[in-house]
Amino acid sequence: RALVAAEAEGDERAVEAALRPRTLAEVVGQERVREQLALVLEAARGRGRAPDHVLLSGPPGLGKTTLAMIIAAEMQSPLRLTSGPAITHAGDLAAILSGMNDGDVLFVDEIHRMSRPAEEMLYMAMEDFRVDVVIGKGPGATAIPLEIPPFTLVGATTRAGLLPGPLRDRFGFTAHLEFYEPAELELIVRRSAGLLDVHLTDEGAGEIASRSRGTPRIANRLLRRVRDYAQVRADGVVTLDIAHRALDLYEVDQSGLDRLDRAVLDALCRRFGGGPVGVSTLAVAVGEERETVEEVAEPFLVRSGFLARTPRGRVATPAAWQHLGLTPPPDGGS
Ligand code: ADP
Repeated sequence: RALVAAEAEGDERAVEAALRPRTLAEVVGQERVREQLALVLEAARGRGRAPDHVLLSGPPGLGKTTLAMIIAAEMQSPLRLTSGPAITHAGDLAAILSGMNDGDVLFVDEIHRMSRPAEEMLYMAMEDFRVDVVIGKGPGATAIPLEIPPFTLVGATTRAGLLPGPLRDRFGFTAHLEFYEPAELELIVRRSAGLLDVHLTDEGAGEIASRSRGTPRIANRLLRRVRDYAQVRADGVVTLDIAHRALDLYEVDQSGLDRLDRAVLDALCRRFGGGPVGVSTLAVAVGEERETVEEVAEPFLVRSGFLARTPRGRVATPAAWQHLGLTPPPDGGS
């Protein structure tokens, strides 16, 4: 089995891929999205046509790539994978599109990071299944129209708001993925443990779930780290105590905050008196890209009630001060 080989080679990405649900029925949580998507796919199958273009938005690790793969699998269509940053020229996209067959599914991860000319070519391809390939430069340039077989675009973005309106409007179905509840993450941890042949108690699974930042990818990763710990420092069984000790070692705290999350809160409280402070300034203070702070750390901090976005900037909540063991300034830190 692929999973066994990947494990043997210590290939974390391959392990992650092997843990992906393969059908909509195997997907844990996201009931609404699953039901909507099932309907879109069944209707398309009934008509014998490629389904409408699908936009999936939500923070990293919530299942966007997994859903794209499932869409292709349920349509019994080949899936092609690319990403916004990989498409730097319109020509890159033209090459991909011209190689597609009827009914293929094209997955574009980080679709908001595509170059402008490629984006414009994509509008046309999505709507008219046609692109204009420009040959030559200057006055002698000619546009050659190229027909593309009907395909389904599945775009993924960390925030749908980053997409230009015209692109967003060309998706027939948009789904926003939400962070998962601890009970759902617990199911995911148990499912993965089964696949990885890890023995864990219910309390152990619950502990990993509650520190996974509402994110399946993190739940699976923490499970593997806790499993390492159980194997090396104990008898291999993941109990509550083992999960505790392992997660403390990996600096994932009780609320699921990791080093970056804590660094952001720490900078916000200690250096900027609790804010308000702009996200760019905050990113510089923690030595990270603005995008990483905004799309990876912030959504979870907001959802956990540690950070608030205001028109004047980011503000620490009383819970943030408390979490860091600090006393907020008398004016409440804002
Ligand atoms: P994204 O594309 O949003 O970053 P992925 O689709 O790559 O996220 O998912 C990351 C990992 O989390 C995958 O290994 C997958 O197994 C797991 N995963 C994501 N969503 C679910 C889910 N709903 N049920 C079970 N596992 C999931």
